[in-house]
Amino acid sequence: ENNTTKYKRIILKLSGESFSRAGERGIAMDEVVSISQQIQQAAALGCQIAVVIGGGNILRGGQFKNESASIQEATAHYMGMLATVINGLALQDALESLGMSTRLMTAIHMHGVAEPYIRRKASRHLEKGRIVILAAGTGSPFVTTDTAAAQRALELEADILMKATRVDGVYSDDPEKNPHAVFYRTLGFDKVVSENLRVMDGTAISQCREHGMPILVFNFKMDGNIQKAVLGEQVGTLIDP
Ligand code: UDP
Repeated sequence: ENNTTKYKRIILKLSGESFSRAGERGIAMDEVVSISQQIQQAAALGCQIAVVIGGGNILRGGQFKNESASIQEATAHYMGMLATVINGLALQDALESLGMSTRLMTAIHMHGVAEPYIRRKASRHLEKGRIVILAAGTGSPFVTTDTAAAQRALELEADILMKATRVDGVYSDDPEKNPHAVFYRTLGFDKVVSENLRVMDGTAISQCREHGMPILVFNFKMDGNIQKAVLGEQVGTLIDP
């Protein structure tokens, strides 16, 4: 069943913003269901999918920077990790409402809510065709879920890390501000670093670069893009070591 997909196992990084309407915060279930349908299409091709979910639609640790007198930055990061668990629960139910089998695993243990993340167990769930949702990031403060996605891609031996965004891929500059920004179909890690291109956070980039993990940045707003990406069709920007 898996002879059509280019990638057998992927890590899909979804930002929290993919769960809310453009310009809004919080969770809009129609958005969550719509991305779940795309995940379902891709999984139907036989691809194993682990989703690393962000939390920016609810809270980011960095947002309290100017309030350091009343809240420690580390505390804020833990709050951000908990936000990803809230998103994970929403994604789990949306996927299951479509008839998919899922497991929610958290890097911060939360008995009664989700399974603890254990690498070999996660791998086993994937082999059985379950969609694995990885929440609470790395479990450590001061990094982002981009770093968690890179970390999980490496340890779960994914074929690629796919970062779903609201833009079509990587540009030489912000396309919303600079009309002359050039779109890249493929990129090397050297150029990402030397030109400081906004792909993922620096820790995630250096981990993927060091360990040869390819990254695909693509627009999840285009229906069918996750499926196309899994099939290896041209979509977004491929950063290939
Ligand atoms: N976070 C953290 N450690 C992690 C992952 C996330 O401390 O391993 C915190 C961090 O404060 C981050 C927040 O959780 O800002 C939400 O995650 P992120 O900003 O990556 O969400 P996204 O931008 O993908 O929606």
